[in-house]
Amino acid sequence: MADQIILRNVTKRFTTKTLGDIVAVDNFNLNVREGECFSFLGPSGCGKSTTLRMIAGFEDLTEGEIELCGRLVSSKKKNLYVPPEERGLGMVFQAFAVWPHMNVYENVAFPLRIQKINKTDIDKRVREALKHTSLTGLENVFPGDLSGGQQQRIALARAIVTNPKVMLLDEPLSNLDPKLRETMRFEIKALQRKFNFTIIFVTHDQSEAMAISDRMMVCDMGKIMQIDTPENLYNKPCNRFVHNFLGESTFISVIVKDGKVYAKGDMTQPLDLAIPQDAAQEMVVATRPNEIALTGVSDGGYKTHIEKRIFLTDRTEYLVPVGEQVVKIQTPHRVHFAEGEACCVRFLEPMWYPADDGKADQERARRQLV
Ligand code: ATP
Repeated sequence: MADQIILRNVTKRFTTKTLGDIVAVDNFNLNVREGECFSFLGPSGCGKSTTLRMIAGFEDLTEGEIELCGRLVSSKKKNLYVPPEERGLGMVFQAFAVWPHMNVYENVAFPLRIQKINKTDIDKRVREALKHTSLTGLENVFPGDLSGGQQQRIALARAIVTNPKVMLLDEPLSNLDPKLRETMRFEIKALQRKFNFTIIFVTHDQSEAMAISDRMMVCDMGKIMQIDTPENLYNKPCNRFVHNFLGESTFISVIVKDGKVYAKGDMTQPLDLAIPQDAAQEMVVATRPNEIALTGVSDGGYKTHIEKRIFLTDRTEYLVPVGEQVVKIQTPHRVHFAEGEACCVRFLEPMWYPADDGKADQERARRQLV
């Protein structure tokens, strides 16, 4: 598959009065392939929307260049900038709601009227777009009389009516209730299959991104952390941030001493873990709550006890002290321990990361203040 969206060394700096310079997007390089659904994922302030706005042409670049469908659309070096309306993109932005003073038909027809397309063609294309977004019959209704899901469909119909090769979706489902969000996800994917456009999808919601994406970019504080398939990002996160961001994580601070690993706060019994070659004295061991074996004391492992047992619909959760920390363990219901009961834990294939100095959290907080 050909690359349809290419970012080369794209950087965006903002100068703010109160907090000085912010590198909102720091040297992004990425390629999105034709027909791919590619998500930008990361905490608030990580640079998702700024990147999307630069692709759309609403924001100038500080450095670098962007190519769309084989055509250079932004280049700082060449002083080139193609305006948004000439980039051939479909867009559904959270902030770009539908126009309340136009009925459904006119909302969808609007982009075609701007392009001065003749009336018969407009009618044909609007009716087609309404059909694919299940809005037929609502042509004369005003958006204010429709549900959130229907309004979002108007925005989708308005985006697909121009037959774009690339669709930019910025938190398009964030105003909808969870059930409707799930339905709309399927509808977006079905529209993509039908019209074969490439999607860039921006969201805070990791499960939504995982469900919809072929590949995802996880970023933090203006930097790309990792680009990969949802499965690889979850199973092979490149650092602690990505591990923590996707799915549930359990982190245990450990001390490496004399070839053994101890949970912080308990130097009396080591954890049964193989130490990586480059391990420093203080490290963090990461795992998922369902990748910790919880067994009886005779089975071996780190000896501890059940502090709390929480019965949930599809699993049981246990809180178990390990050194000065308390870890969460998820098991199937058949694994049964009572609160206070002695037990052993073993960490199955955990990952190792450097100890955290808290600086990243401070910077994240600063960015959200801007
Ligand atoms: P959110 O999920 O909250 O929308 P985001 O990941 O999309 O966050 P951006 O909106 O791209 O993040 O912002 C990245 C950084 O750039 C943030 O620190 C933000 O405060 C800053 N920023 C964005 N736009 C501007 C602007 N116009 N002027 C100054 N700073 C800005």
